[in-house]
Amino acid sequence: MYNILYLQKQEEQLKRYEGLCVHCGECCGADGDDPCANLAKAAQDKCYCKAYENRLGPQKTISGKSFNCMPIRELLKFDLPYLRCPYVK
Ligand code: SF4
Ligand code: SF4
Repeated sequence: MYNILYLQKQEEQLKRYEGLCVHCGECCGADGDDPCANLAKAAQDKCYCKAYENRLGPQKTISGKSFNCMPIRELLKFDLPYLRCPYVK
């Protein structure tokens, strides 16, 4: 029983955490000239990832450069200036 409650709590926290994202795409290179090849535009200037469920790990930019997609909490260790990102604040 406690196990189920714990898992539910984790799930809720994950949803709340992910819900903070404003889908600006800054962390995927949306503002640069060579963004991730999985980055797609949606309505109202929002971005989404075409490979979200399998995003973490090796990926390529549009021009073919390799990089590792990392969770935002890992990226923020590098002190990157994502001005619109709520996780930075
Ligand atoms: S794979 Fe990673 S970097 Fe590329 S669009 Fe998806 S979340 Fe962004
Ligand atoms: S920079 Fe932050 S708010 Fe923007 S897409 Fe990435 S995680 Fe979401």
